[in-house]
Amino acid sequence: RLHNLYQDLKGQLRVYCRVRPLNAKEKRIGDKEAMRVVDGTTLEVRSTGDIFEFDGIFGSSESQADVFEDCSDLAQSAMDGQSVTVFCYGITGAGKTYTMYGTPEEDGLAQRMFGELFAQVDTIPQANVTIMGSMMELYNNYLVDLLRPIDWQGRQNPPLSLKLDKSGTVQVEGLAREPAKDPEELKAVFQRGLEQRSVAENAMNAESSRSHVIFTVFLTQDVISQQGGVERITSKLHFCDLGGCERLKKTEVEQDRDRRLEAIEINKSLSALGDVIEAIAKKRKYIPYRNHKLTQLLQDALGGNAKALMYVNCSPAQSSIKETVTALKLANRAK
Ligand code: ADP
Ligand code: MG
Repeated sequence: RLHNLYQDLKGQLRVYCRVRPLNAKEKRIGDKEAMRVVDGTTLEVRSTGDIFEFDGIFGSSESQADVFEDCSDLAQSAMDGQSVTVFCYGITGAGKTYTMYGTPEEDGLAQRMFGELFAQVDTIPQANVTIMGSMMELYNNYLVDLLRPIDWQGRQNPPLSLKLDKSGTVQVEGLAREPAKDPEELKAVFQRGLEQRSVAENAMNAESSRSHVIFTVFLTQDVISQQGGVERITSKLHFCDLGGCERLKKTEVEQDRDRRLEAIEINKSLSALGDVIEAIAKKRKYIPYRNHKLTQLLQDALGGNAKALMYVNCSPAQSSIKETVTALKLANRAK
């Protein structure tokens, strides 16, 4: 059974798989590795015989640096004026946050890309370049600016609102943009957003695996054009740490109304994103961005001239293989 992937459409969309190592708890209970990386692009699920193909697979021995190496070219794309969306898809505990944002000890993809961006900027000293960071959380269809204070209910006044302007640019009205002149400053902006996220979660009594976090880097370059005028090139890079794609257990659905609403909303948003990715992969004319705030937010940096990078994060554990295979199939539905 071959589940094929989205092909790499001139670099418009790349889909990678990353399988994390068994964790200490799984090892303790004698859990087995249910995944086999057949080669650089093929993954086999031992117990079910399912085969999944990707543009690339990172196994348990591959480091954050290895993962970054394969996508560092996106910094150049952003400098060329193309927008970029990077996101991780998978069940809770599969390694999404680790891949995207790393840990306090070890930088993830986002921070590594900050470094690469500034390194690229340094190669063009004649241009006037501005880099700014923003950070949002999307929880239960409510958009929070993680760089602005929230009230005791986790709300902001005025709330952020989304608009698409005449040029097709997504405008998030009221969103804070913090300038940064080196990677450390940008990391500090990012770190501040992460801290605010825990505050927001407590205020809203939210489950962190049930929200999406989007860190955006805005890049503006004023370059002297051949005619001698100043030409402005703008692009943005979204680094999305998405909520888990697992289905709620029946008992959870019955017991807890808040968790049920979270689950419904997260599934709605992830399937809207899946529909958009599928339409892009199949080169459809109509891309259904309008179906969710998540996809509206990413609209001008996903599809069209933009580049998208999707990681499907997997646990290797036999004990969670059912959920993992479901996630892999969902992620591969563009076929
Ligand atoms: P998710 O965000 O998908 O819920 P996390 O990124 O929080 O999952 O990962 C769950 C745990 O596994 C974390 O403690 C994380 O540090 C660890 N982990 C995830 N991926 C890896 C990896 N490739 N190598 C080592 N540890 C990992
Ligand atoms: Mg996470």
